Amino acid sequence: LAAGEYGPEQPGRVIAHFGRSLEVAPAHGGQAVRCHLRANLDGLVTGDHVIWRAGEDGSGVVVAREPRHSLLQRPDPRGRLKPVAAGIDQILIVFAVEPEPHANLIDRYLVAAEATGIAPVLVLNKVDLLPAEGGELRALLDRYAGLGYPVITTTTARDTGLDALLDQLHGRTSVFVGQSGVGKSSLIDRLLPEEDLRIGDLSTDSRKGTHTTTTARLYRLRQSPAADADGAQPEGTDSPGELIDSPGIREFGLTHLSADQVADGFIEFRDHLGHCRFRDCRHRAEPGCALLAAVESGDIHADRFASYRRIVDSLENHQG
Ligand code: GDP
Ligand code: ZN
Repeated sequence: LAAGEYGPEQPGRVIAHFGRSLEVAPAHGGQAVRCHLRANLDGLVTGDHVIWRAGEDGSGVVVAREPRHSLLQRPDPRGRLKPVAAGIDQILIVFAVEPEPHANLIDRYLVAAEATGIAPVLVLNKVDLLPAEGGELRALLDRYAGLGYPVITTTTARDTGLDALLDQLHGRTSVFVGQSGVGKSSLIDRLLPEEDLRIGDLSTDSRKGTHTTTTARLYRLRQSPAADADGAQPEGTDSPGELIDSPGIREFGLTHLSADQVADGFIEFRDHLGHCRFRDCRHRAEPGCALLAAVESGDIHADRFASYRRIVDSLENHQG
């Protein structure tokens, strides 16, 4: 290409951005390309699928954004929602045998995930520390599995759970959220390919904190062993999956929620919401409350209802 010339339009995906400059991974493979934005394009985030054109000096220009099927947003310091990443298929909520998980915290993450419309997956890490009987924790996992949530148990000490996790990640774009200390970094480290196979290494690895950007970054995951075994990808997918990560994303779920989002985020409540006698029922002690009736009949687990109450109460205290 001569100076000022651009190649044909081609698909790609934003893997990182630094102000008005982006790194784009070509959809057909190959090195990530540093791109600038066409003037009328703004607000692109990591994970966005874009159309771009190569320039003459190895850089490129992004000319369009594809429609988004999902968007993760976080409040800025002034409380306004800002997009942080797009094109996410699932939110992996990581908790661990140690620090001991509180059901209420798991519910908070689930509610926040449900509010985004992105599918949550529960990951219990450090199962190497699980006592043989493991009674209470297993009962807790069974409850979530019974609600329809995928539940995966892992330990970074062995490969068994990691393979199941890789299968869950396969062909999808995921984010990991959860309390500090549950093992997110350790898990992610095991799920990424060797250093020299990582995509987009134009810049140093921001995940290690050596780069100034604090925005999200997209990583291609390791090939799952199932795909390795027959030398091909499972049907219908051509990617081992991607991970989008940043410190801000990991803290996702501890953000503000509205009372309606909370009730709606308890998926087993949805069948009952709207059936209370009073339209503005707050599900406390109102006569004809369908939620209270469902707790009474055992359709809704009393612990989940108590958890719902706690979250709503904490919101009300927050708002004074
Ligand atoms: P993060 O804060 O969620 O990113 O957690 P880290 O990945 O930094 O892990 C916190 C601590 O838990 C570290 O000391 C890890 O070595 C340890 N850890 C991580 N995964 C496991 C595991 O599967 N089993 C055990 N026993 N410890 C783990
Ligand atoms: Zn009610």
